[in-house]
Amino acid sequence: MHTVRTEVRVEGVVQGVGFRPFVYALATGLGLTGLVGNDLDGVFAEVEGPEAAVAEFLGRLELQAPPLARIERVTTRALRPVRSASFVIAASESQTGLRRTLISADTATCADCLRELADPADRRHEYPFINCTNCGPRFTIVRDVPYDRPLTTMAPFTMCERCAAEYHDPADRRFHAQPTCCPACGPRLRLQSQPGLKTQLGLDHHENPIQAAAELLRRGRVLAVKGLGGYHLAADAACEQAVAALRQRKHREDKPFAVMAADLAAAAELAEVDEAVAALLTSPARPIVLLPRRPGTTVAQATAPGNRQLGVMLPYTPLHHLLLAAVARPIVLTSGNVSDEPIVYRDDEARSTLKGIADAFLTHDRAIHVRTDDSVARSFRGRPMLLRRSRGYVPEPLAVATGFPRPVLACGAELKNTFCLARGRHAFVSQHIGDLENAETLRSFTEGIEHFRRLFDIDPEVVAHDLHPEYLSTKYALELDLPAEGVQHHHAHIASCLADNGETGPVIGVAFDGTGYGTDGTIWGGEFLTAGLAAFERGGHLAPVPMPGGAAAIRQPWRMAAAYVADPEVARRHQDHWPAVIAMAAKGINSPLTSSAGRLFDAAAAILGVRDAINYEGQAAVELEQLADPAETRPYPAAVEAGVPFTIRGSDLLHAVIEDRTDGVPAPVIAARFHHGVAALIEAGCLLMRERYDLGTVALSGGVFQNLLLLSATVARLEARGFRVLLHSRVPCNDGGISLGQALVVASREAASRS
Ligand code: ZN
Ligand code: ZN
Ligand code: FE
Repeated sequence: MHTVRTEVRVEGVVQGVGFRPFVYALATGLGLTGLVGNDLDGVFAEVEGPEAAVAEFLGRLELQAPPLARIERVTTRALRPVRSASFVIAASESQTGLRRTLISADTATCADCLRELADPADRRHEYPFINCTNCGPRFTIVRDVPYDRPLTTMAPFTMCERCAAEYHDPADRRFHAQPTCCPACGPRLRLQSQPGLKTQLGLDHHENPIQAAAELLRRGRVLAVKGLGGYHLAADAACEQAVAALRQRKHREDKPFAVMAADLAAAAELAEVDEAVAALLTSPARPIVLLPRRPGTTVAQATAPGNRQLGVMLPYTPLHHLLLAAVARPIVLTSGNVSDEPIVYRDDEARSTLKGIADAFLTHDRAIHVRTDDSVARSFRGRPMLLRRSRGYVPEPLAVATGFPRPVLACGAELKNTFCLARGRHAFVSQHIGDLENAETLRSFTEGIEHFRRLFDIDPEVVAHDLHPEYLSTKYALELDLPAEGVQHHHAHIASCLADNGETGPVIGVAFDGTGYGTDGTIWGGEFLTAGLAAFERGGHLAPVPMPGGAAAIRQPWRMAAAYVADPEVARRHQDHWPAVIAMAAKGINSPLTSSAGRLFDAAAAILGVRDAINYEGQAAVELEQLADPAETRPYPAAVEAGVPFTIRGSDLLHAVIEDRTDGVPAPVIAARFHHGVAALIEAGCLLMRERYDLGTVALSGGVFQNLLLLSATVARLEARGFRVLLHSRVPCNDGGISLGQALVVASREAASRS
């Protein structure tokens, strides 16, 4: 048979994921000779043998790749056969020049490691840091590239002989697994408790920190646990007193806590788990998944007060697996911080910040290099929808077909900030940075940008920013010595939705959110745009109203109610401030105009008596959604006023709310009718847009679409009208997706101006 030799190049996430041993096993299994190695671009191989066997090799290369590999491109080239005698793994060469290899995200403990963890005969039995090529920490321990142990936070741990042997054996699952370690040579766990606590609780006899920590939890204590991307705070989820204490010490009034359950069966006892949800919960990224809560479970009321949803996650490190098994019931696991500060990740910082909250610390000596929060997702119509894209997903790039003609840095928005560095066809969206208002978050932002620049070797030639002059991300962008380009907030939302779906538009973009700076200097947020990646036009929007007191109107939804309608009940509740607020709005003093859909929800919530002041962003709308009666589907009507742009009168919905309330209609029915009213006005707006611009596809973006009731009702209406509807999946519809949108818009403008 004809002998051939083929050169194969594989690009993508192919280093540090067991790709070379996989190629070695595949080639030798097929009787091929040649070599495999790593270089700057990824993995290269030369395979030689009968033509059919080489074809078989190429076919299986993508199909059977190791679990963490993300193959982006395979190219082949025919070579002259050299009659090589065997197949070898070539040594890595020192890597200088443009780096194109990618770093994997942190990955949940794999089934093989779990088996060893549970096996009393295994040398890593119950070792909380077990990992292998297919699982374990990655992004959170990487200090620099190339991804090699000395450049990770595993550097201080010298591998013992047995670990080193595994690390160097191509046939071993730990071949070139950088965080390889064992109880003899790796990180160690310890439990630090307040002086005397262990004695007081009679836990002195516990040698095993996991067992002692579990006992503390079972006795209603609050525990700080060092995780992958930061410290968590843990409490027994069934213990009302413990969860309430955690809430009070953390100064977190109402925002829901997530719960970690030991496995799928335990999760299914707390919430409804269908097949798509099960896949998401057990995926290697292990996000927190928002699920419909089961009534009558043992989860403490204080976990997610007044919420029909529960955020559930499964263990993703060996430490979590051991702890959950020892506690033998679900635990609350929430970010280790005080109120709105970012999650703490340094040991000294954890001790000082969390000492007033946690009774004990379950900690270890492997440093966390990058603060990374848990990701948050939900499943919508069987498809995952990320609400916070962070641990488990970052830093894997999003492939963008249209590409980036010049390397770009996009600085994102102010709240739920992420940044994005993009080059070629890769967009690297950062982990969730948070709200840029505090110094510590701003530091994560600036250091994060430097870190990503180094890791992915991207030297931006242009910087994209929001139009809002006061955003700290905008100020940062303008201080750089680079050409800066402003991108309108809602255009960025729609561009990110297009990118998420691999489309370029033009589409009808419905961008409904809380706040975004408009091109006319007013605050937008209830927008109907006709948008492609490069440009947009404002086709219509909610009728603007004043926001009396500016930011104060965001914190106090009753002010929005006052701005919209003269409701005697709200006026009575706030009679001391009412006249001043009304006068402020009427005269336009410190009352910027807004077309925000978020503010319309706030006004409805206040009128319905749901919430007059909020403790976290979007709280009034969240509670209004929770209140709504799922059986009620009648919408309130809202008038459209023709024009370019057209406007839709949100106040009509609020008058209907007041009327029904006066007639004694139950609040859940009113809340539902309001939601369906907003869905109906979106439908009406899209019909007008279709008529005017002859477009049949709608992209939905903006934080308001985190509202599941609104989203379902809107999609159903639009589809019934024959629209194709694009939704977010891989990047959040909220401001976490803004940086990707900004990067795309700037790249597309450049491409458009060149052609
Ligand atoms: Zn593993
Ligand atoms: Zn070892
Ligand atoms: Fe937004």
